[in-house]
Amino acid sequence: QAAAKAAAIDADNGAPTIFDKIISKEIPSTIVYEDDKVLAFKDVNPQAPVHVLVIPKFRDGLTQLGKAEQRHGEILGQLLYASRIVAEKEGILEGFRVVINSGPSACQSVYHLHLHVLGGRQMQWPPG
Ligand code: ADP
Repeated sequence: QAAAKAAAIDADNGAPTIFDKIISKEIPSTIVYEDDKVLAFKDVNPQAPVHVLVIPKFRDGLTQLGKAEQRHGEILGQLLYASRIVAEKEGILEGFRVVINSGPSACQSVYHLHLHVLGGRQMQWPPG
């Protein structure tokens, strides 16, 4: 756990992430929704019957939500609205969860802001 946390702190160094290759389609993904600013694709390690990641195509400093600035307001709103589109496409509009892990203590592992859209089963609260 401590090693994972240290690795995560090191990881927010502005280096390209695997999501760049997903955006450029060098790495295949199952795309659920795409527009000029946003890409949504299925998580490779799903934590629920529906588990989709929603990301900005241009990271623009948004390695994590904790680094957001006022100028990111528009894309943050677009990502949240895209999550709703994903929920509708995936048939979980009746009940779904949107999660953002920001930083090491939240177990963020990929330092390109992403929203997890989860559903298709009864979710529990509180999360771990
Ligand atoms: P965690 O890894 O602790 O869930 P994050 O919130 O940073 O932390 O989530 C990164 C997510 O990216 C994980 O759910 C992981 O399964 C997913 N992921 C990593 N590589 C790929 C990939 N090539 N295609 C789709 N999803 C991926």
